[in-house]
Amino acid sequence: MEDATYFANVLRSRECSVCGTDRKASAVLADPRCTVCGTTLDDGHALLAIAQGAAKAACSMACLEVVLNEGLAGGDSCPACGTPWSAAAPHPRTCRTCAKDLSFDDGYVGVWQGGRLQTFCGVPCLEMHEDRVNPFCG
Ligand SMILES: [Zn+2]
Ligand SMILES: [Zn+2]
Ligand SMILES: [Zn+2]
Repeated sequence: MEDATYFANVLRSRECSVCGTDRKASAVLADPRCTVCGTTLDDGHALLAIAQGAAKAACSMACLEVVLNEGLAGGDSCPACGTPWSAAAPHPRTCRTCAKDLSFDDGYVGVWQGGRLQTFCGVPCLEMHEDRVNPFCG
């Protein structure tokens, strides 16, 4: 069992952090555009909404809310690495703020930072985290 855990950790570092596809790790978004308003995103820092039906990038909290309200469906590719979304199988994740287990079926949100992904159960937990990281905002 120890070996299996070790190799899982080694492999994880090379997998796409959004969809879990092996050897697709990337530090920049494959499609750095806001799904809602079309703004070109900073490819090293974006908000993501992730669920079984789709993963979508957003430029701001307001656009992220729109994505979540519309529902996550019909995603054709991973915004981070471009792999067909139907093949996505991310590792189980927990909310960085409240430590709740996240469900890929129900969906969750994330902050993309240079290839790393921090995940949250919803916008309130994400905002709480961002406020802590950026004490100058508000
Ligand atoms: Zn991916
Ligand atoms: Zn936007
Ligand atoms: Zn949470």
